[in-house]
Amino acid sequence: MTIKHILVPTDFSPFSDLALRVASSLQEKFNAKVTVLHVLTPLEADTLTAQPGNPWENVVLRIQNTMAEEVEKNAPSLSKELVNLEVVVGEPAEEIARFAEENGVDLIVMGTHGRTGLAGILLGSVTMGVIRRTCIPVMVVKCPEGLK
Ligand code: ATP
Ligand code: MN
Repeated sequence: MTIKHILVPTDFSPFSDLALRVASSLQEKFNAKVTVLHVLTPLEADTLTAQPGNPWENVVLRIQNTMAEEVEKNAPSLSKELVNLEVVVGEPAEEIARFAEENGVDLIVMGTHGRTGLAGILLGSVTMGVIRRTCIPVMVVKCPEGLK
């Protein structure tokens, strides 16, 4: 298996932070590129663009800034040329799986949970939906507080 393109879907939760840390370490070993992807639901996108003076381009730029900060904090050694920051609109699991399939992703690294989930449930719905939709290997990370 070659790992040349790693996808890290982020919802800016501590789980995504951990996924970035893991991806960064794999990136170094395999000299892969890393795409960080945030999916806005159509409702979120509409709400954000409905605010005055907030065209779509600004919304994307602001989210990309937040992603760049997340990368800087969790994967400072990742070289900028090897990182893509992507923002798309749709159903999160569907868009993550579609992006991975269409862009030659070799490995998806994501959290077992995210911003909204209940700890009692094994996997969040986005992770579950990605695993269901794709044959690309998915590495799920948990215990953001447990990584040394
Ligand atoms: P649920 O959303 O089902 O209530 P949850 O929030 O705990 O539960 P998920 O949403 O499945 O769990 O999140 C698991 C992982 O999926 C996150 O750590 C993140 O990697 C990814 N993820 C979740 N939402 C998004 C999103 N909107 N865009 C990109 N990645 C996401
Ligand atoms: Mn969620």
